[in-house]
Amino acid sequence: MLGLMQSQPLLISSLIEFAERHHGDGEIVSRRVEGDIHRYTYKDLAARSRQLANALDREGLQFSDRVASLAWNGYRHMEMYFGVSGSGRVLHTINPRLHPEQIAWIVNHAEDQILCFDLTFLPLVQAVHAKCPTVKKWVALCDADKLPADSGVPGLTSYETWIGAQTADYTWPVFDENTASSMCYTSGTTGNPKAALYSHRSTTLHAYAAALPDVMCLSARDAVLPVVPMFHVNAWGIPYSAALTGCKLVYPGPAMDGKSIYELIEAEQVTYAAGVPTVWQMMLGHMKPAGLKFSSLRRTVIGGSACPPAMITAFQDDFGVEVLHAWGMTEMSPLGTLCTLKNKQLGLSKDEQMKVRQKQGRSIYGVDMKIVGGNGEELPWDGKTYGDLLVRGPWILDTYYKGESPLIQDAQGRGWFPTGDVATIDPDGFMQITDRSKDVIKSGGEWISSIDIENIAMGHPAIAMAACIGMPHPKWDERPIVAVTLKPGAEVTREELLHFYEGKTAKWQIPDDVVFVDAIPLGATGKMLKTRLREQLKDYKLPGL
Ligand code: ADP
Repeated sequence: MLGLMQSQPLLISSLIEFAERHHGDGEIVSRRVEGDIHRYTYKDLAARSRQLANALDREGLQFSDRVASLAWNGYRHMEMYFGVSGSGRVLHTINPRLHPEQIAWIVNHAEDQILCFDLTFLPLVQAVHAKCPTVKKWVALCDADKLPADSGVPGLTSYETWIGAQTADYTWPVFDENTASSMCYTSGTTGNPKAALYSHRSTTLHAYAAALPDVMCLSARDAVLPVVPMFHVNAWGIPYSAALTGCKLVYPGPAMDGKSIYELIEAEQVTYAAGVPTVWQMMLGHMKPAGLKFSSLRRTVIGGSACPPAMITAFQDDFGVEVLHAWGMTEMSPLGTLCTLKNKQLGLSKDEQMKVRQKQGRSIYGVDMKIVGGNGEELPWDGKTYGDLLVRGPWILDTYYKGESPLIQDAQGRGWFPTGDVATIDPDGFMQITDRSKDVIKSGGEWISSIDIENIAMGHPAIAMAACIGMPHPKWDERPIVAVTLKPGAEVTREELLHFYEGKTAKWQIPDDVVFVDAIPLGATGKMLKTRLREQLKDYKLPGL
């Protein structure tokens, strides 16, 4: 017997319809590429998204055709989130920090038909447009008078002229909720990038879950600043969850430096911000020496790579901001776990609570996880045993776009996605990433977590950034070394830093050496690029060898 409730597909257009109707005057503030601040409302967003949908119809785009963006976080990009997907096309958000060759490769692979870009990326478009034969229209996300006269990009149109020619009269089509809505390529540190192809169903379910109190806890009382880029896994789903909750949105545009972000938080009275650790590192680096404080920021979600405990403490003790440590992946839309305390942990001492807070957190309903050993056997949740982390759920990838399914079948025939992360899970269900499987250091048959080694170094007042990698060793197989950058004006010797490790980790896990570098290479999403660091240190020899 079927239930007798209304059956409505979960479509992205329903989010913008809801926001327009119930939070029509809710504000969306964007710092533009032009440098000024732009303000409008969910009502404006909805109308202009419909104009964009009409423009796509006018271009003759078919259902499921791909429309690409090369853009910062801002209102026009958000219109693409709703106008492109809502009208049944697929939004392909391209990471502009990828190498131009890789960008051309993914545009061709996705068969993008229209590509809209912020003017910052004009040189990039000039470099790749001739290599992208599927793109039949190039659109600059700007006013008509900002359109460069001799761009060299054939038929370049300004977005405002393009959508300005259309009315906001448009009825969102209704279709199967499993229809593709957007796509995002992984940064492809090994081999060619692979794409996760999200659906309307996966995106709306993820938007619901992301807003929950033990997840991002978003509400109509919040002013939310996603520093995490809209070209990286849909800014962790925040634009969708924002429409669902009606929170005020504040977009940083291209100004991602610590000073600009801080000023925007203060000017717009942001209560909630989201980003990767490197961004917050820059902001705290700007605030601390100047003695600046926050007047409105209460919570920040930090993920994408391990958040050093020293950062959690600095936010909490120096600035009164609660850090929510989060873990996820492009293939997971991206949210998997968030670290919020359970009731029974509220009475723990501050130190005990810190031990929990630095973990990557608990599963969100919709994400099942387990750790397995070498033979696929499930390992215990004791907080000590580590194994390969597998996940399954309705917003987790089944098959790569034009690619293969990486899923591993269990005895019940259920498919699990192998995350490539090594983790422990404690009896309360808190997962902690030990490492990416390719970064874990194997020393004398035991594993050393590079994250642990980095976190300790980051606790030293002189260290700005630390990356731990394994170096070949004839007896131990590999030994850890730590590459560090120093804070401006700070000093520490190799011996002092190695001494700092004593008592904080087992003796055999203490790195064999410290390498002082000017900069740690960062990848396209602001994460440390250990492959590049390994290349840079290819002639390095461990002391005594
Ligand atoms: P890419 O693989 O292209 O860098 P993703 O954003 O999909 O992009 O990366 C997902 C990976 O990032 C995870 O598998 C994990 O290794 C790492 N990661 C994400 N969040 C955290 C976190 N909070 N702590 C440690 N590692 C994290």
